[in-house]
Amino acid sequence: MTDSCCGDPHGAPATTIEEALAAICAVIEPVNGSESVAVRSALGRVLDQEVCSRIDVPAHTNSAMDGYAMRATDLPDSGDASLRVLGTAWAGRPFADSVGAGTCVRIMTGAPVPDGADTVVMQEQVRTEGDRILVGAGHRPGQNVRQAGEDIRAGAVALTPGILLRPPHLGMLASLGVAEVRVRRRPRVAFFSTGDELQSVGVPLQEGQIYDSNRYTIFGMLERLGVDMVDMGVVPDSRERTEEAFRSAAAMADAIVTSGGVSVGEADYVTETLETIGDVGFWKVAIKPGRPIAFGHVGKALFFGLPGNPVSAMVTFYQIVRPALVRLAGIDDPEPELLVRATCRSTLRKKPGRKEFQRGKLSRDAAGRYIVESTGFQGAGVLRSMAEANCFIVLPLEGGTVEPGDEVDVQPFSALC
Ligand code: AMP
Ligand code: MG
Repeated sequence: MTDSCCGDPHGAPATTIEEALAAICAVIEPVNGSESVAVRSALGRVLDQEVCSRIDVPAHTNSAMDGYAMRATDLPDSGDASLRVLGTAWAGRPFADSVGAGTCVRIMTGAPVPDGADTVVMQEQVRTEGDRILVGAGHRPGQNVRQAGEDIRAGAVALTPGILLRPPHLGMLASLGVAEVRVRRRPRVAFFSTGDELQSVGVPLQEGQIYDSNRYTIFGMLERLGVDMVDMGVVPDSRERTEEAFRSAAAMADAIVTSGGVSVGEADYVTETLETIGDVGFWKVAIKPGRPIAFGHVGKALFFGLPGNPVSAMVTFYQIVRPALVRLAGIDDPEPELLVRATCRSTLRKKPGRKEFQRGKLSRDAAGRYIVESTGFQGAGVLRSMAEANCFIVLPLEGGTVEPGDEVDVQPFSALC
């Protein structure tokens, strides 16, 4: 997998994010295995079967409006037609008889159009006179009628495998009378933090220790993606313990996400272990914050070694791990990355050479145009800059400093779920 674009920890050029993602996607096989679940439990899962409709949807020809159902041949070309009202058709309570010439039926939205009738005139467009109505000219034959099977014909393919099931799909399955569907198994992701300085929450900090925050941000991001998780805790900076963690993670997970220990410092064992017991895709990506990041395989498991700095870990997760896990989940046609153009209100210092993800606050000005401001100090360890932000301000690889008034690309966090 190593090639000239992929760089190494010893100064080779960094790969671009786009190259990194292409290289990752080229080697990802979606997880296999599926299970049957009730329709509500299928929300957020990936469909693993074709769903054909057993019925016409709608099941019967029905009215799109509250009004009167009649024969199109009774519609006048000019003047008024007087039609006798025979009764009422309700949604769920059809009118039992048929509609002959010169007659009509009061009809509610969703009620089956009675035999003989083919057109509905809205109630606001008629005048009532005792048990009769007066209908004027200008109506179209067949108007306000939804034909049986107009949405989906019996036997037609309604949903295809590989789609991510969202609320409308649940509704569609229900409208077909489907109670259970087969969905793909969720990817299982093992994650751990590395670093002798890390303490877990609930324990007082000793001299030189910090709390492990990455396992919480990574938990949150994985949870939102709907994967199965295995939290493996904190692994100290030791060659043996790192190897041991790698092996047990690879034995139970489809993907491994770690943070810290990917530099080439004395206590950084992640890259070394990946080289020894796994295989390495690339080390350096032209992304800021977030270099270095390691990608490769340990056994069959995908491996993502994120940087330890809390903001770097989040940025690299969102930009690299997330799209990879979406593919691993088997989503056929992932949505394209959503970027919004906004006018920047801050000065954003930047040097060409890396694509940067600065943290910003997106809003609208009085005229309704998108504007974005920096959340301030952009240090890779300053999690507050993420917590106060609602978007990334995405600055292109070769771009330089942005001045107030410049247009920038913004990636809303809401699009990253
Ligand atoms: P490293 O990538 O291991 O060199 O770590 C870079 C910086 O991130 C250091 O200041 C670490 O203390 C910090 N760091 C590493 N892992 C974590 C973590 N899990 N939670 C919070 N900070 C971390
Ligand atoms: Mg470390």
